[in-house]
Parts: sequence; structure tokens; C-alpha cells
Amino acid sequence: MGPSTPEKTSSAHGFAPSDPLAIAQMTLVHWAAYNELSLMQTIDITYRYEARDTARPSPPNSAAALSRLNEGNRAFAALLDPTDESVEHIISVDQRDLGLGEGTLPKQRPFAAILGCSDARVPVELIFNEGPNDLFVMRVAGNGLGTEILGSIKYAVDHLGGSLKLIVVLGHSGCGALTAAVDVFLNPAEYLSLATMHSLRRIIDSHLVVVQASARRIQSKFGTQISDHPRYREALIETSITTNAALAAFSIQQELGASDPVQLKAVYGVYLLQTRQVWAPDISETRGGGLAPAPRDASGFIELGDAILRSDRIAELLR
Ligand SMILES: [Zn+2]
Repeated sequence: MGPSTPEKTSSAHGFAPSDPLAIAQMTLVHWAAYNELSLMQTIDITYRYEARDTARPSPPNSAAALSRLNEGNRAFAALLDPTDESVEHIISVDQRDLGLGEGTLPKQRPFAAILGCSDARVPVELIFNEGPNDLFVMRVAGNGLGTEILGSIKYAVDHLGGSLKLIVVLGHSGCGALTAAVDVFLNPAEYLSLATMHSLRRIIDSHLVVVQASARRIQSKFGTQISDHPRYREALIETSITTNAALAAFSIQQELGASDPVQLKAVYGVYLLQTRQVWAPDISETRGGGLAPAPRDASGFIELGDAILRSDRIAELLR
């Protein structure tokens, strides 16, 4: 049996907003999959809107927001671990966040702003185990920092400052935007085919500096002959993806500097399509996995480069 092929359905039932004890629930995703042992496994992820004040409280600070996202991703990643049992996973949310029940329109109160890639395989709320009104999500191919993205972040910081505690840049393994930039870097003749595609060129151009810096880093550690390695291109793509996310988080942290650096922190990570986990290289042994703080300065990027290249993910590619 090959890799499992999720089959997704959605259903909604049980809405009774006028009843104060009502529970509304919506099954968001139903996966029916065969695991590696060829056993049938079903997974239901359910958003449960309860009329009572039982919704999860918002994190009070950036450290609590970071822990919640990391724990949420661990829970999501573990859901799809092979087992012969069916799993039901419930995300409790406040029904008022969708305008259910009595009262006024919901007030926007996300605890984290997340810049992710447009890639359809990286559904941001789902992979962090979050529901409506929890995350302020911006998605653009290659999760680059363009003018509109910076403007959106500034809006969130200026208008949602009461609830917003964390800004996240999330890359992902196998990103097509970074892959295209690496291919142009390795074979500049390919750039000619983009001559009239200005919008696409703009995305690729914005990533070329990161790709070049990543290539230099790899060659300074492994020698220039490493570019002949059969998996060099793959290693360069994955190194560039990680560096790109860290650089965007660094830039956001610099922009935030004048705002409130104690309250609001910028972090980054890479969503691994293979394991569904959010990953960042271990610079400090005490970090414990998941999202990592943005590098603080040039020496922080040197440490980051070392940590990426000694990580199992990248080192194994270049063995
Ligand atoms: Zn991508």
C-alpha cells in the first residue's frame, strides 16, 4: 500500500443559537486513510462552538502564544500518526467568534499574525490546531515581505495590539517559489524564459539574494565541489527556505523595534510536508523544537547558517 490518500468531506449540524446551552459543531475534516500497516484509519477534526464561556482564553504574552502554536502543531502532527484506531479531535471555540448566539458582531481578536506561503498543502489554521478569530493570516507565494504584506502587519499591530502577541513567518519544505529561484540561480539561462513575466520575476528576484547567500554558506562549509553532489540542489532549496523565513522574521522584528519589542515578538519556522511538523534548526539546545525566535543581528545569521547545515535534515542530504 502506498502513502495514504486522504479523502475529505465536510458536514455541519446541530446549530441552535437561541439556546444558551446549545452546542454547535462542525466537522471540518474527515480523513479516511490507509496507514503503513494497511489498516483503515479515520480522523475527524471538529470545531465545537459552545454557548457557555468555555472557549480557550487568549495567550497573555508572546511566550504563551508561542507555546500554544507549538503545542497545537504537535497535536495536529500526532493526529495523523499511523494507528488502527479512529480518532476524533475537538477544537473548542467561542461561538461568538462566528456571530452565533446573541450579541453584536464578533470583534477581531487574533493572538498571532502569520505570514505563510500560498501553497495549498499548508492550511495555516489547521496545522496549528486553531479556529476562527485566532490567527491573522497573510499568504503569498514564497512568504516574502512585499509592501502589501508589511502594510497588513502594520495594520494588525496598530489595530489589534490588545490581543496580538506574536508574529510568525512560516515557510514550508519543497516551496515552489524558492525552488524556482534556486533553479534560476543554478542555471541563469532559465531567466530568459521569464523575460515577459514581470510579476513572476518579481517573486523570484526577491529570493535570489537569499539563495546566493545560502549557496555561499554551503560551499564554505563543504567546499566548492559540493555543487556536484547529486542532492546539492535539494539542500540549497531547503537551506534557502529556512533562511528566507528567518530573514523575513528578522525584518519584521526590526520594523517592530519602535513599537513594543517586549510585548510583540517575531518568530519563524518551516512546515515539513513529510511529517506535518513545524521545524527550525536548533541553535540553542534548550529551545525544544517548533518555531524559533528571529535572528537578532549578523552574528545571529552566522549561527543560523551553522545550525541549518549541521541539522539532520540538511546534513543527511549532503552525505
Ligand atoms: Zn511555497
